[in-house]
Amino acid sequence: MTDHKTAFVVEHLDPELGPWSALEYACISRESHARGVRFLLSSVPASLQMPADLAATQGLEVEQRSVEEIFADRKDKVCLLDPAAEVELSPADGDHFEVFLFGGILGDDPPRDRTSELRKKGYTGRRLGPKQMTTDTAVRVTRMVVQEKVPLEQIPYVDYPELLINEHERTEMPFRYVTDSTGKPIMPDGMADLIKQDADKGVDDLF
Ligand code: SAM
Repeated sequence: MTDHKTAFVVEHLDPELGPWSALEYACISRESHARGVRFLLSSVPASLQMPADLAATQGLEVEQRSVEEIFADRKDKVCLLDPAAEVELSPADGDHFEVFLFGGILGDDPPRDRTSELRKKGYTGRRLGPKQMTTDTAVRVTRMVVQEKVPLEQIPYVDYPELLINEHERTEMPFRYVTDSTGKPIMPDGMADLIKQDADKGVDDLF
């Protein structure tokens, strides 16, 4: 069912848009499109060269305006997904809020709380549990809670999964992921390969 009222917005907060973000944003676009949900990538600088694969992804609306400008008339309908919020997201939030806002920030370990850049704009915040998620995971979990009405604590998760780089090396992903029906963490297409390719540099350099 197409839900015209609800929009998921990622406010891009970095001057650049690297391969890790491109895979996350493409994944969010495809999943949103498949479910008839609007997905906006906001605050994209005019000078930013969008990676071609991302620009061609169905379901992506690129906006140079910030979330504040786009939704100036409905500020009270915007919910910021904020790891520091005191209230957890619940299915009932889907009945009140129309815009779900996420920081377009790469995860970092330990987290640097760059979501504060959006928090200081005064939006109502909701938390998705105590562990840091990647942006695509945070969008996936929010969609499950507010649209599919699955309570946060019933979503299947895995924390800090290990990725096999080769026979001898593994790397731990310092995030919480939703798992699929086989118990594997759901990651954007191409992410495991990107991490393996760049394993020499170490995961920290990708963030
Ligand atoms: N280290 C980060 C920071 O500086 O805030 C967290 C960034 S996280 C990778 C990207 C976005 O996903 C956050 O800005 C937030 O909107 C959402 N997010 C991730 N984990 C979350 C959680 N546990 N609760 C609420 N939102 C979360």
